Amino acid sequence: MRIGIPHLGNLYIPFKALFQRLGVDYVVPPLSNQRTLSLGVKYSPEGLCIPFKLTLGNMIEAAELGADTLVMPGGLGICRLGYYAGTQEQILHDLGYNIKMLQLGVSERKLLGFLEVIKYLSNNAPWSKIISAFRFGLAKLSALDRIERMVQRVRPVERIKGTANKLYARAIKAIDDADDYNSLKRVQIDYIDQLGQATKDDGAKPLIVGIIGEFYVVLEPFSSQDVESELGKLGVEVRRMTFISQWTKFSLFLNPLGFNEKAKIHKAAFPYLKRDVGGDGWESVGEKVLHAKEYDGLIHLAPFTCMPEIVAQNIMPSTKENIPVLTILCDEQMAKPGVLTRLEAFVDLLQRRRRASV
Ligand code: SF4
Repeated sequence: MRIGIPHLGNLYIPFKALFQRLGVDYVVPPLSNQRTLSLGVKYSPEGLCIPFKLTLGNMIEAAELGADTLVMPGGLGICRLGYYAGTQEQILHDLGYNIKMLQLGVSERKLLGFLEVIKYLSNNAPWSKIISAFRFGLAKLSALDRIERMVQRVRPVERIKGTANKLYARAIKAIDDADDYNSLKRVQIDYIDQLGQATKDDGAKPLIVGIIGEFYVVLEPFSSQDVESELGKLGVEVRRMTFISQWTKFSLFLNPLGFNEKAKIHKAAFPYLKRDVGGDGWESVGEKVLHAKEYDGLIHLAPFTCMPEIVAQNIMPSTKENIPVLTILCDEQMAKPGVLTRLEAFVDLLQRRRRASV
């Protein structure tokens, strides 16, 4: 059995660690790129969202490398994500790939559902081995997110532009290469230290912009033309609540115990939206309300044709909380110059607003 999993940011690194320790043959397709998108667009129904198209492209590239078992997240929520694994499996069969598709229904079966899939993929490895490998994967995941949070703070104030991104790329590689807890810890300390020592403009007071929107496009930089890094180059500090390690912590462990990390966000959205509309639409509205006083502006990332985010996009202008929101629709028509022009104009507006408020 050769396993392939579509990309979501750096998630392939914890999966690699997990599968290596279990002796599972895991094929990592190339990171999402223009070819991935072209393949996905070519073989997807036109009106589907970019997460469907890019993950399909990843699967085709994994199958080209010999993967015969593909794992795709799914669920029974309001969003059409639940239909994706079945549709993608059909498309891959029609293309002649003899693959088996496994749907990972994390939203229903939580930690148990996830571990059962790993047990199956590892050819029934002992639970002790699975749990130990899973813990190491989680440690890599939180190391990646910890470094990324620091990178978000350094990018806008670094004196030599590109320093944080270079260190981030090296840290990702070093975390990927770390093969035990000690080396993983050393890598974290080393890169946090290097990021801390990067020469900075200590007097700078960067604009603060929150990133909200649909989970996939928020976490997969290729799908949004890497808006976070571009904002950093414009001297903007980016904040976001969605990180894969946080999501894992709550979805797999704490939600089943009754903790709802989104309760505060949903409560904030309540005057304008009282129910789940699928995907992350409810959270987008709630985050606008919550962050109106803390941030200078918000970038709302929404896949084109994503109904939950269309609902959110239409509600946000009517909230009384006054904070500029720039919605960026992500799809295959998106081009870097267009995104940059919109970001520059938005940042210009936020700077004027800040000057006017002092
Ligand atoms: S939330 Fe929207 S973009 Fe995400 S999978 Fe569902 S429909 Fe597609």
